[in-house]
Amino acid sequence: MEKIMVVGAGQMGSGIAQVAAQAGYKVILNDIKEEYAKGGIKNIEKNLERSVQKGRLKAEEKDAILGNLEISASLEDASQVDLVIEAAVENMEIKGKIFRTLDEVCPEHTILATNTSSLPITEIGACTKRPEKVIGMHFMNPVPVMKLVEIIRGLATDDEVYNQIEKLSLAMGKTPVEVNDAPGFVANRILIPMINEAIWVLYEGIAKPEDIDNVMKLGANHPMGPLALADLIGLDTVLAICEVLHDGLGDKYRPCPLLRNYVKAGWLGRKTGKGFYTY
Ligand code: NAD
Repeated sequence: MEKIMVVGAGQMGSGIAQVAAQAGYKVILNDIKEEYAKGGIKNIEKNLERSVQKGRLKAEEKDAILGNLEISASLEDASQVDLVIEAAVENMEIKGKIFRTLDEVCPEHTILATNTSSLPITEIGACTKRPEKVIGMHFMNPVPVMKLVEIIRGLATDDEVYNQIEKLSLAMGKTPVEVNDAPGFVANRILIPMINEAIWVLYEGIAKPEDIDNVMKLGANHPMGPLALADLIGLDTVLAICEVLHDGLGDKYRPCPLLRNYVKAGWLGRKTGKGFYTY
């Protein structure tokens, strides 16, 4: 495996592109508009510059990593890649469209991975004529920092494809964990109900955001409170995952109305400058 396309240059896509380029792969970072892809590269540059300043990376290493990256605004540019990692928005219709196009554009050997937080890998695989080469590769946010990758097989995923993605995850310095295809997989099955409960606690006026977060930081030793974490993930993404859990697993996963209202208001957390906190 030499050449990788990452689809979606948001916070996850740019992070995935960075760790892949750091591991020595040639990476094409794709988004719907060239300026979005450029924005992703800018984020990577900023991250790498910070590492140089902290003495964790040499300036020439930074340049070599940036040299492994190019941008794209068309999925047609995937015609020569060995792997695509999709990290566009958490929406089945959009992901379906992307996977159908990639299936037509990519060579036969190309593996199509998705960084979905919660959508069924089997359903994404069924959008293509190569479901045996479709797999979930779920990174955590922020990608350059967090060690975990959940690897999820769909019903049809080949063992050989699983092995290649496991090897790649290790090459990227990550710790892969094998997980079955179920709503929210493992990480978000546990994390999102906790975040949703914290939003209910706020909605019911039981405590202020800072106090809810402090309770979990000081009382449960979480590095970050659930509301600050929701702002980091993006409230649109939190709601999308919550809906998948609710549809698949029942009423106890019902999204809090306050979460819906914030998303309707466009208060999506850090990425829009306002969520449960102001940035
Ligand atoms: P984001 O909003 O930061 O970025 C999404 C990017 O996808 C945007 O730049 C958007 O322009 C682009 N996009 C939308 N439609 C596209 C298309 N058709 N083709 C190419 N690009 C397109 O979102 P994010 O937080 O980076 O999340 C991306 C994916 O990663 C989602 O599936 C999400 O569930 C998953 N994920 C998110 C987190 C998290 O903490 N935010 C963690 C793990 C996985």
